Amino acid sequence: MFTSILWKEVQHMRECGICNGWDQTLHLCPKCKGMMEDQGRITDFLDDYSPYLDQKWTNLVDGDEDSSITEECIHLFICDECGLRDVQSS
Ligand SMILES: [Zn+2]
Ligand SMILES: [Zn+2]
Repeated sequence: MFTSILWKEVQHMRECGICNGWDQTLHLCPKCKGMMEDQGRITDFLDDYSPYLDQKWTNLVDGDEDSSITEECIHLFICDECGLRDVQSS
């Protein structure tokens, strides 16, 4: 109980490195090892992209109202090479 409350506060206080420019905005495609580019925060256009995302992320958004998804900054990455979509939380 104590640790989960503490964790939420830590999450809430954390700043997103990708939004703030001190974290990397490129990451490697797990499929083709190409460069995946940051498309921005997933919460900004979740409705457009949710059908394409991995089930675990859509479940996270739809299933749990206490989810930290609004506190956590989750970014959508799209591979330049093969078009694979992936998400990464900061
Ligand atoms: Zn961010
Ligand atoms: Zn790829």
